[in-house]
Amino acid sequence: MPNNTPNSAPNPFEEGAKSVSNIPVIFIDPDDFKDDSNKEQKLHTVEKSIQTQFQKHFPDSDSNINVNKLALSTDSLVSSGPGAAAITINGQKVCVITKPGADMDTKEEVAETLSGTPSNIRREVPGTDADWQRGAGVHEGVHCNQAGTYNLHKTILSEEDMAARTLRHEAEADSVALQDMEQRGKPEVAEAWKNYRSLGRVNENLHPNHATGAILGNIEPGDATTNHVNAAHVTTNLLSQHQDDFVNNPDQYIETVEKAIAHPENIEGIGEAGGIKDIDDASGDAIMEDITPEVKTALQTHLDAYRQEVLPRAQASKIEDIKGGQPEIIQGDIKDTMEIGGVKASSFFNSHSDPGAAQQRLDQQAKLDVGVNNEANLTAQNNQPSMAPAPVTPMTI
Ligand SMILES: [Zn+2]
Repeated sequence: MPNNTPNSAPNPFEEGAKSVSNIPVIFIDPDDFKDDSNKEQKLHTVEKSIQTQFQKHFPDSDSNINVNKLALSTDSLVSSGPGAAAITINGQKVCVITKPGADMDTKEEVAETLSGTPSNIRREVPGTDADWQRGAGVHEGVHCNQAGTYNLHKTILSEEDMAARTLRHEAEADSVALQDMEQRGKPEVAEAWKNYRSLGRVNENLHPNHATGAILGNIEPGDATTNHVNAAHVTTNLLSQHQDDFVNNPDQYIETVEKAIAHPENIEGIGEAGGIKDIDDASGDAIMEDITPEVKTALQTHLDAYRQEVLPRAQASKIEDIKGGQPEIIQGDIKDTMEIGGVKASSFFNSHSDPGAAQQRLDQQAKLDVGVNNEANLTAQNNQPSMAPAPVTPMTI
């Protein structure tokens, strides 16, 4: 959707981000450079924008900025939003936030991004576009305040620890965004946001380290562990095999999920997904983590969300006509129920982000998803000069 908001008008995303960030925020708008023909031009546009905003925040500071020298990859600077990273520019701590572009400024677009499911199979998204823009802004603003990459010994965390850390950060960012919605008298928006995160388990393109749906309202964001990431992975493996039922055959879908909750031992991969918890001193055998409780919670929150967000619409779409007061139930109508926007359900989920783009994002995340604490970064860089460029936080919602 075109974004016709004049720059001077209050922007809900920006307002939300600024309301929680503890440091000055510089915004990048992907729509500013979307028409630039190459990366160099895009970076130039971004550089000018950062420079202007930095000057406003710090009129007395040296505002000469070279985007190639920032502790942010140039790819992340010209990627589509939203995302956030706290960095130091000319000695000043600032948060660089990429705003959602024009392709993510309606509530339906935000809902589709969070849930990995199309709007036309869900109940109507509650609230206004501004409510959802503000929610995304608050979420990104929380990332500005989150601690950095390196642990106290200045070593880079393992991949597993990093995924769990990202999940904790995501859950915290969501949690603050949801509190903001509650405080603003929009509990139905908060509920839908949480539901969308849970629904997303059906789409394998959504990363498990953003699977906050099973965390929010169940445990403190800071208590999320690798088990939760692995549980999200196992859950998605299972649910994504039933995407056609998700859209077309809700009764069958619900039965499948309920069976999995009742007999988690039958879920593919659940026994191996926990990782090694300890070694048995006597036998020398590995003792595996049991992630059954986390998988059951992930499935139950997904099912609750499905019943609330998808089921009412799925049932309504089966009632084609009312004849003589009797609803005529149409079972398995291929055109109406098997397809989403003219494509098969499984194709929709697969195309939600194309595999190439998804892999690119994961690669980028592997490179970028490592931190925001400047002091730690700078110290680490000084100690280990080979580690430049400095790592930064992921640029995804
Ligand atoms: Zn986030």
